[in-house]
Amino acid sequence: MLGMAAGLGAMVPSVAQAARSIPVSGVRLGGTDQSTRLVLDLAGKPTHNAFYLINPYRIVFDFPEFDWAVPNTKMPGARGLIKSMRVGLFQPGVYRLVLDLTGPAEVQRILTLPPQSGFDWRFVVDLKPTDHAGFLAHMGRSEAKVQQAIAKEPAISDRTGRARNVKPVIILDPGHGGVDPGAVGVNGVYEKHITLAMGRQLKKELEKTGRYKVVLTRDRDIFVSLRGRVRVARQAKGDLFISLHADSHRNSKTRGLSIYTLSERASDKEAALLAEKENKADIISGMDFSEESPEVTGILIDLAQRESMNLSSQFATLAVGELRREVETLSNTHRFAGFAVLKAPDIPSVLLEMGYLSNRTEVRLLQKASYRGKLAKSMVSSIDRYFDQTQSAQRP
Ligand code: ZN
Repeated sequence: MLGMAAGLGAMVPSVAQAARSIPVSGVRLGGTDQSTRLVLDLAGKPTHNAFYLINPYRIVFDFPEFDWAVPNTKMPGARGLIKSMRVGLFQPGVYRLVLDLTGPAEVQRILTLPPQSGFDWRFVVDLKPTDHAGFLAHMGRSEAKVQQAIAKEPAISDRTGRARNVKPVIILDPGHGGVDPGAVGVNGVYEKHITLAMGRQLKKELEKTGRYKVVLTRDRDIFVSLRGRVRVARQAKGDLFISLHADSHRNSKTRGLSIYTLSERASDKEAALLAEKENKADIISGMDFSEESPEVTGILIDLAQRESMNLSSQFATLAVGELRREVETLSNTHRFAGFAVLKAPDIPSVLLEMGYLSNRTEVRLLQKASYRGKLAKSMVSSIDRYFDQTQSAQRP
């Protein structure tokens, strides 16, 4: 008894910390399309915010930072009113669970059950069907709207006016993160982890040259919206933006690297499908687009973008030349499509698909630091050559 009390006393400091970290040990789904039940098994009592999002129908739960031990690959499959679901860090301190619904549905009740009969704490959500109007009514009443800091966009900068003595700023954008895992490899590895590993490695290689300032759009497993990534690039006054991704393909034999630049019209059907997939990142993470202008969500290219687009192509051509010597590439390595993340009007931007996680050989390579190192070195030489060309063109 005494021993126990002493033990508890010693634990006090960590208990305060534990309040912000509730281990989730299980996720279960049950029921039918008339009544669907979701149960989370938890080591403590959670607090939550719930809200509804449309196009497609979704219900989103935000929790204070959970310690979510259940990987996305272990999430239950479709059941009843729930088509699919995923979890991850949305922003510091907020863990997000997104339920994709088969149609309009609503929360009938939420129960937080204390530990009993061998169970941990349980967070129980019962869903029932509703109609479109009923769903919309919930959206209006949502207490917790997604907090979107609409920071002021910096004005379009004059590239030629930039001081020549400062180091070029390279923005590296590890794709996906947090609640959005990206593609899932044949061996269960997530795209978001590969892109972050590559981003960090490439940053190190670039900094070794002493020639560049490098900014990562994310340096942890967290969600960043597509617009947020562009905003980081513009606020850092980036001179080159490189978004890092790895794709998956229904044909497991498909492999090879490819590089994409922005275009209203896609170079081919595959490129169009890929852009559509990558542009879904915000929807996957439960972002609310209802207040975004169509100009943000669509791909309209304005005049200011033309010069950036030429430079983007110039860089992509150089990169293809360098990368082809080192790694396997797709035929027509440089492709075009309407990627939302490449939309900074004043920053040359490319999206690098490093390879296919659906291919056993390539996924294993991409998990190796040595292979990513080889990729990083080729990227550094491409970047060096690009700035050699563009900076000499700017000299009087
Ligand atoms: Zn991706």
